[in-house]
Amino acid sequence: MSVTVVGSIAFDAVTTPFGSRERMLGGSAVHFSLAASFFDVVHVVGPVGDDFSQQEYEVLRRRGVETANIEHVPGGKTFFWRGEYGWDLNERRTLATELGVFADFEPKLSAAARSADVVFLANIQPELQRGVRVQCESARFVALDSMNLWIETTREALIETIKLVDCLMLNDSELRELTREPNFVRAAAQVRDWGPRVVIAKQGEYGAAMITDEGFFALPAFPLETVVDPTGAGDCFAGGLMGYIAAHPGAELDHELLSQAMAYGTALASFNVEEFGVERIANLTSREVAERVSELRRMTHFVEKPVDLRDPALHASRAGLAGGSRATRVTASLSERDTPTESG
Ligand code: AMP
Repeated sequence: MSVTVVGSIAFDAVTTPFGSRERMLGGSAVHFSLAASFFDVVHVVGPVGDDFSQQEYEVLRRRGVETANIEHVPGGKTFFWRGEYGWDLNERRTLATELGVFADFEPKLSAAARSADVVFLANIQPELQRGVRVQCESARFVALDSMNLWIETTREALIETIKLVDCLMLNDSELRELTREPNFVRAAAQVRDWGPRVVIAKQGEYGAAMITDEGFFALPAFPLETVVDPTGAGDCFAGGLMGYIAAHPGAELDHELLSQAMAYGTALASFNVEEFGVERIANLTSREVAERVSELRRMTHFVEKPVDLRDPALHASRAGLAGGSRATRVTASLSERDTPTESG
């Protein structure tokens, strides 16, 4: 089985309170692929320009990512994004987005990419996401991510694409912006009316929450002392989650499996933010991933041990406290009508 992803393949310029990089490999499809490569073969789909060198291809190939569907556009310029973060790393400002070769890209997938079991439509123009979705007819699970730029400039096209997927994964605030609903439960209900049965809200350093046919599940983000650059955390989360699903061919995609997948997504996202860009994930080991998932399980699991609970109202009334004064009030109102009294 394999995974296909379409999304940006980019050069990023990023400034955070901990430093900056003027030009580093990035893009939603790149971050996703490196995270998902721990689970299965990943076909990455998208265009690059002349400025995309062998060095960049190597970062992907060293992790076994299948690059045959990366189209080199002669004379073109690779997608470029510039962003900055302040002390609240959940908030970021986009300073520049240059689509470059993505402006006229028409995806034509290889037979291997078309037959993927799991498909991720990472953040990019919604029409382009749809172009890939319709070519992957046999996919068992398709998820989509997007962002405020596309919500604000191409909302209708985005909703049409969302109707074709099984799962919508968005930042919490962007989910509210898209659905025009004030909280996750209502926003998820709106999305589920459109079609996807699974809705996931990414909540930055607070983790992620999910609603499926079977109900609600949430995980906190893995607590870290050092966070350097959150860029790509959402895509790595998706890479871990979708990769885990791809690693379970034939399994029922129920709430339990999706919850387990969220744990792998959470672990991979947490590594990503420890260094700039892809620096950490590109050198991560499978042992580190497994250890972090175990730690996450330990810190989010508790054994329910029932205790005999007091009935606070009963105790208060026995002690002549709150319940007593209520009884007194009842007595008073009854006595006004000359009825027998009750002292509690
Ligand atoms: P994330 O932090 O997971 O939301 O994704 C960060 C990546 O998204 C960066 O590496 C950027 O290159 C890429 N990106 C930023 N803006 C866009 C956009 N409008 N469309 C597609 N990709 C984008």
